[in-house]
Amino acid sequence: MEGRPSLAFLDGAGMSTPSGIPDFRGQEGLAQVARRYGLSYETLLSIGELDEDPATFFDFYWNFLVHEGAIPNRAHRAVASYRGPVRVITQNIDGLHQKAGSEKVVELHGSILRNHCRSCGESYALDEIPHRGIPRCPKCGGIIRPDIVLYGEGLDYEVLAEAEQILEESEVLIVAGTSLRVYPAAGLIYSSRARAKILVNAEPTPLDSFFDAFVQGDVASILPEVLQ
Ligand code: NAD
Repeated sequence: MEGRPSLAFLDGAGMSTPSGIPDFRGQEGLAQVARRYGLSYETLLSIGELDEDPATFFDFYWNFLVHEGAIPNRAHRAVASYRGPVRVITQNIDGLHQKAGSEKVVELHGSILRNHCRSCGESYALDEIPHRGIPRCPKCGGIIRPDIVLYGEGLDYEVLAEAEQILEESEVLIVAGTSLRVYPAAGLIYSSRARAKILVNAEPTPLDSFFDAFVQGDVASILPEVLQ
């Protein structure tokens, strides 16, 4: 752990595309798939959709958001094996950083691995509920929902504050695999006091000029080199 600067690693869906999980706005992203439903993905993944049409919400959710066989890729493993203090702030909901061995992970948008009944509040792990249709609580019959932040819902204040603190304290910032178009997550970068700020992404973002360096390409190729 000695000698390496403290690292804040902030990422998004592009981090998990090499694990076979589509992103939203990339070239093969879920924005295209959502059109088959005649709705935008913002609508499909909104609290309004869950309230009004849970069958459609869960059809999209189980088919396109939950990828049970997905395993961490080289980029997740590179972060987990960084030889210095590292804290991860992720927009992803797939739990792959923890599976790769990262211990300090702030999940801005929650996790598909955790679920709760909307009626009685009972908690359920992902493998305790059926992975199709509308999951019902065995105790009360209420609808079980994933502990993820849906469109139309706010982020947890304490989670945001923790992310801001990590960014304020860390010497190096690496942002990877995110379009930097989803707020408030994207705006968090302005809390950084890092002496080096690096962006790794397949395509330019609206916030490129904030960074000292923009490395364009695949996170699974670039991060193992950058974090060596
Ligand atoms: P986004 O889809 O808006 O942007 C992803 C970015 O990553 C794009 O700019 C794309 O070009 C880039 N990218 C894709 N594959 C890459 C690769 N291999 N290497 C480098 N760059 C790559 O995603 P976002 O910025 O995270 O914001 C969208 C929201 O999507 C987030 O809130 C997140 O919760 C949610 N989401 C999460 C998952 C997941 O958990 N894996 C999957 C889809 C969407």
